Amino acid sequence: MRRRIFRNMCTLALAAILLSSTLVLVVLYPLFNSQMQKEMQIEAAYITAGLNQAVNKNAFLKTTEIQNSTIRITLVAKDGIVLFDNMAPAEKMDNHLSRPEIAEAFATGTAQSVRLSATLDSQTFYYAVRLDDGTVVRLANTTGSVFSAFIGILPLIILIAITVFGLALPLAKKMTNKIITPINTLNLENPADNSVYEELLPLLYRIRTQNQQIKHQMDVLQAQQEDFAALTSHMSEGLILLDTKANVLTVNQSAIYLLGAEKISYRGKNILTLSRNLILHRAAETALSGRHCVDLLLIKNRTCQLFASPVYENTTVKGAILLILDVTEQQKAEKIRREFSANVSHELKTPLTSISGYAELIKNNMAKAEDISTFAERIYLEADRLVALVDDIIQLSGLDEKNIQLPPEKINLLELTNLIALRLLPQAKEKNVSINVAGDSIHIFAVKQMMDELISNLCENAIKYNKPNGKVKIDISQQNETAVLTVSDTGVGIPREHQDRVFERFYRVDKSHSKQTGGTGLGLSIVKHIAEYHKAAIKLESTENNGTKITVILPKNSEHPV
Ligand code: ADP
Repeated sequence: MRRRIFRNMCTLALAAILLSSTLVLVVLYPLFNSQMQKEMQIEAAYITAGLNQAVNKNAFLKTTEIQNSTIRITLVAKDGIVLFDNMAPAEKMDNHLSRPEIAEAFATGTAQSVRLSATLDSQTFYYAVRLDDGTVVRLANTTGSVFSAFIGILPLIILIAITVFGLALPLAKKMTNKIITPINTLNLENPADNSVYEELLPLLYRIRTQNQQIKHQMDVLQAQQEDFAALTSHMSEGLILLDTKANVLTVNQSAIYLLGAEKISYRGKNILTLSRNLILHRAAETALSGRHCVDLLLIKNRTCQLFASPVYENTTVKGAILLILDVTEQQKAEKIRREFSANVSHELKTPLTSISGYAELIKNNMAKAEDISTFAERIYLEADRLVALVDDIIQLSGLDEKNIQLPPEKINLLELTNLIALRLLPQAKEKNVSINVAGDSIHIFAVKQMMDELISNLCENAIKYNKPNGKVKIDISQQNETAVLTVSDTGVGIPREHQDRVFERFYRVDKSHSKQTGGTGLGLSIVKHIAEYHKAAIKLESTENNGTKITVILPKNSEHPV
């Protein structure tokens, strides 16, 4: 800006100089010339009158006025011979008949002409008048030419130009500062607070209007962004929005968690900084190329379903939206359900096959009369096993569906355990196993039927997998805010490698032994589910051939177990 002002000032000054020079040369110089010509004509009139009236022309011409005149005066005879010249000896001058003004004056009476010098630096004005005696007197005056006049004023022009240029720089600087400084120091937040020159007022007015519009738009945008952030941050699904270059526009906390990424801001960064997962990257690329895609992501023992879709504006892809759903539990549950169905079919088929086999033998009269009661006994036992199995399956399905109709209630754990021990006494006696219940009278809040099932299953196992003359000990105690139930036995124990799996459905350490004892393989699964339902923890300690201790830690004060 400063340079432009400086340039403009210099151009203006140069134009002014040129214009004034032209004025001098074109207007004033011709004016000066015509003035000079007029003076010459007047002078010529005097001299002509003097010569016409002079008795002795030579005496007139020798007067000092003529001799010292700055105007050259020449007297030329009819034949062109110079009779007199006040600035040069007449006899040495050549014939003047060829001079145009002389020739014309001889012809017409008066004549004038202008001639430039050979060097063009001067010009001479001639004025010739014919005298009464036929001779011609000529006056000549030499002045500088236009060219020499221009050369004459050129140093002055240059001096003025240098002065102007010299002054233009600081002046341009000063002017620029005067224009720019108020603009640079404008308070754009509050335009009304500025005191500036009046030409800036429309600008300030526009800035104020735009500030108001921007503020309004920012408020609207911020409100929208807050709504969006609130919505997405509470989503359990991971959400990622990408622009056309796969840079992150939005990523919610769930996505960061599910991808196992660092908790930092990813806005504006490429999706690769969020996760280097190849499947995720490919899905983003597919969506950005305008195609929808669904895939499975396996990240740190978690299985996630990934949906990637392009975001269109008219017909162009403007970005992509990625949705990540954690389906780990779902997949696990599905796997368990699949295995469960397969196991259920198998478990039901075995007793049914044997029932149908025995029944067929009896029906076809193929059984001996003495075997019929044994076969009937087998059918009865297998049917009993089937009933137990179906009962357990129904119970597990109910627990799976969380379809518990019964309400929780206040239970005296010691009382309930004593009742169960009493109920299992015949079973224990049959195996020659003693049952001992000890501990404090502790109350818990739980579903009584489910707690009965849990304790019964643990005690039944402790009896079933015991040795002859073995012991079952049930202890109830309070630790901090929990009720601790321990069922320990002196039985066969569970080998180390099986300990983690005995809570799985239909898992048995020794399948044949379990069948002998009438186990369904679902008892501990039911225990685990009931414990989970009551937010209780289970601990299993066992040594092979030495015994097993299962501890259930129940939250005591929980008003509602679920
Ligand atoms: P089951 O109906 O076969 O008893 P459970 O689910 O109750 O099924 O138990 C699973 C398996 O864990 C049993 O088959 C048995 O091998 C083992 N088990 C459970 N409790 C005990 C225990 N107290 N002592 C030794 N083994 C046990």
